[in-house]
Amino acid sequence: MNYLIKMYISLIESLGIHTKDQLYELFSTKQHGVPISRHRAAVMQSRVFFFSVIFALLVPAWSIIDILYLPAELWSELLLIRLVAALCFAVIAWQSRAESGLLRARILLAAMLAITPLFYLLSDRFIEDHQLTGAALVLAEIYALLPFVMVAGLTLFPLAISEFLSYALPIFFLVVYSVYPQTSAEIPEAASTIWLLILLLGVALFASMTQLRYMLSQVSHASYDVLTGMLSRRAGIEILELQFRLASMSEKPMSILYFDLDNFKVINDTYGHDAGDTVLRVASQQIRDTVRKGDSVIRWGGEEFIVVLPTADHKEANDVITRIMLAGLGDRPDGAPVTASIGIAEIRQDRLKDWKSQVELADHRMYTAKSNGRARCVGAGGHAMEWVVALEETSGF
Ligand code: GH3
Ligand code: MG
Ligand code: MG
Repeated sequence: MNYLIKMYISLIESLGIHTKDQLYELFSTKQHGVPISRHRAAVMQSRVFFFSVIFALLVPAWSIIDILYLPAELWSELLLIRLVAALCFAVIAWQSRAESGLLRARILLAAMLAITPLFYLLSDRFIEDHQLTGAALVLAEIYALLPFVMVAGLTLFPLAISEFLSYALPIFFLVVYSVYPQTSAEIPEAASTIWLLILLLGVALFASMTQLRYMLSQVSHASYDVLTGMLSRRAGIEILELQFRLASMSEKPMSILYFDLDNFKVINDTYGHDAGDTVLRVASQQIRDTVRKGDSVIRWGGEEFIVVLPTADHKEANDVITRIMLAGLGDRPDGAPVTASIGIAEIRQDRLKDWKSQVELADHRMYTAKSNGRARCVGAGGHAMEWVVALEETSGF
């Protein structure tokens, strides 16, 4: 038992896992943020492209060996299914050049992995009909290795355990089905094939998880701000671009909120930089706890944040701001509530052409809120809402 615990700890350490969330991220993709999903989709699609092209060339090329060693009737049957398989790989390669998306990447990977087992099943049918000897027999045995090639291929994809299993289990059952012993004399060979497959699957799972773990830490360094845990400006720009495009295509509203904390500098000047950092951390936590799961919170600059609200019109954006005001942004070191000046911009009502003009407009309205006395938000047509809710709450009116 002790030994098993030690093994578990060394596995966790070798994967660089320090928190429960990090462990969960390896099991399921449910908690993966937009940056990691986008990055993973792009990497998966480019690898599917690479392998599909190679297979599209190699699968028909192998016919030369078939022609040299197999009977004419068999190699011509195999050539036909080789050509069909090559065509399928070519279609997958072509599809994987399209803009990346996680769903597309998953389907393409599944399709790529499915061709080889289907090819294996079909070729096995044809090969079984022939009594082969010598070199032809050895060659036919190579066909039985195809599912193993697919398992090896899985090592090249950064997959969560749940994804890995959904790709690997069909391959596993296919192999079990095809080697299932008919007589007791076949049991040792079947058992050794299945044993080898399980071993390979274990190695492939570890390789796949290691890649995902590495990618998660790389993307998290590049995409999240260390102090506040918000999205970094760079990752934020990608999300603004993406959400703007999605909203324009679907003709749905999309709002952004531009926050600038009020009189923040004086906190640094009076209580020191660390006190300022604490205020920033608490304010960002409050915002992140108040918005919905699909919303993105970006640290745009020092004490300036952008909240992206997909599908939200001006009214919904106002509701979000009211919720944030009610929850508050924490307290200043002197006990007074932290407030912010906020500008709203919504793509449809404000007739915006791109994400940059949306940010500019929200920034401009934030400045209007500042010059009108701070602690308020400004939306379309100069519509303003003061921070009264939070002040009333905290002062117990
Ligand atoms: P206003 O109400 O007009 O926005 O006043 P302000 O004092 O908030 O405005 P200003 O933009 O002059 O001050 C922003 C300050 O935020 C200046 C900068 O030193 C501070 N700041 C930026 N990033 C950080 C950070 O990461 N930590 C801390 N502690 N301070 C930061
Ligand atoms: Mg500022
Ligand atoms: Mg400020």
